[in-house]
Amino acid sequence: MWGKIREELRQRVGKNNYVTWIEPLRLADLRNGVARFEVPTTFFGDWVSRNFADHICSHLNNSGQSVDRVEFSVTARAPVAAKPVAKPVARAAEELPGAPLDQRFTFETFVVGKPNELAHAAARRVAEGGPVTFNPLFLYGGVGLGKTHLMHAIAHELQARQPELRVLYLSAEQFMYRFVQALRERQIMDFKELFRSVDVLMVDDVQFIAGKDSTQEEFFHTFNALVDQNKQIVISADRAPGEIKDLEERIKSRLQCGLVVDLHPTDYELRLGILQTKAEQYRQQYRGLVLAEGVLEFLAHRITTNVRVLEGALTRLFAFASLVGREITLELTQDCLSDILRASDRKVTIEEIQRKVAEHYNIRLSDMIGPKRLRNIARPRQIAMYLAKQLTPRSLPEIGRRFGGRDHTTIMHGVRKIEELMSTDSQLSDDLQMLKRVLQA
Ligand code: ADP
Ligand code: MG
Repeated sequence: MWGKIREELRQRVGKNNYVTWIEPLRLADLRNGVARFEVPTTFFGDWVSRNFADHICSHLNNSGQSVDRVEFSVTARAPVAAKPVAKPVARAAEELPGAPLDQRFTFETFVVGKPNELAHAAARRVAEGGPVTFNPLFLYGGVGLGKTHLMHAIAHELQARQPELRVLYLSAEQFMYRFVQALRERQIMDFKELFRSVDVLMVDDVQFIAGKDSTQEEFFHTFNALVDQNKQIVISADRAPGEIKDLEERIKSRLQCGLVVDLHPTDYELRLGILQTKAEQYRQQYRGLVLAEGVLEFLAHRITTNVRVLEGALTRLFAFASLVGREITLELTQDCLSDILRASDRKVTIEEIQRKVAEHYNIRLSDMIGPKRLRNIARPRQIAMYLAKQLTPRSLPEIGRRFGGRDHTTIMHGVRKIEELMSTDSQLSDDLQMLKRVLQA
């Protein structure tokens, strides 16, 4: 019965979620309205419970079971037999040939939002340093989404909790460099011994070793040796293991054995959160500088590519404003960052207007074209209609079609309504000005 329901859930939650979260579930028993599943870890159970419990429950009920609740209990795992590993010569952590850690990349400075929630939770879990629950932790995502930041945060935290722990963080490029150097200097045994003697190995941007045959080979052996000793491994890459070209199959499948999580592109709230955190630091650094309202919102709307660019923009803005001794206004922002802003410029489309307006008023995008008539939804929809009329060359019937097939008279009414309100409602006119800037600048 569970087998069949699992199949249905695969359709419902998508292949990735299915493989990671549903497939490993074991239905332990089902009675008195409670379905109890066995899961490998508490973290795993919490995640499934928060994200998939409702689906599981409703599918069980649809198949004729009467279930009010699902529960998760952690499978008692057989303790990993501690292999008698020859203790390598004790080496202080600072002697490890890792890359230096950036002091700013900690959990405290990492802003959590929907797009990075899971990656953050998994990183925290690893950083607690308890028994190894998933190995490796594989973090992937586009440029500047926080992979390196999270890895450094794990290293800082582990080192703070357990100073004696041998944590080795380095990029895949450095791994290759060390390996080649060891080959050249005929010190390959030392190299092997060193890498096999760490407690935690973190390799950043592992896609780099794709196509580099002997480095891959060595990486594979290092990886296996550490997993066998139950040592934690954390890996990052710019894409999922299966999608890295020229990476050996056996390595891909090894990398998929633990927990694979992706950092999604940032959303508006996360970008704003990051900007607010940064701006707070800068306010202390550049005392006396005034940051006008709406500037951070403007940047969060306009710079959507990656966090590094976003931070760079803010850094430049504060430095420039302090140099010229002016308040940071929207105008100053546009002058100072014109190149960055131009780079993210596009023609305004109706879809974009709907998206930005929905984001700004915190309603669903689908409500833009849906039938709901509640004021808190109808008003933003009218604002979007108004902006569509103002900022695009589309005719009223065309706009009507993009708003769920509404009649052109409805659009006309919406546009007039906003024009009318604008003259008396200063909040509305501020909002409109801001949205226009965001969409157009
Ligand atoms: P990646 O390794 O994924 O390319 P980084 O970890 O180097 O990205 O992040 C790029 C920059 O953006 C860093 O300065 C980092 O501190 C910052 N950053 C990324 N995500 C966040 C976040 N969620 N909170 C705070 N800063 C972030
Ligand atoms: Mg990085």
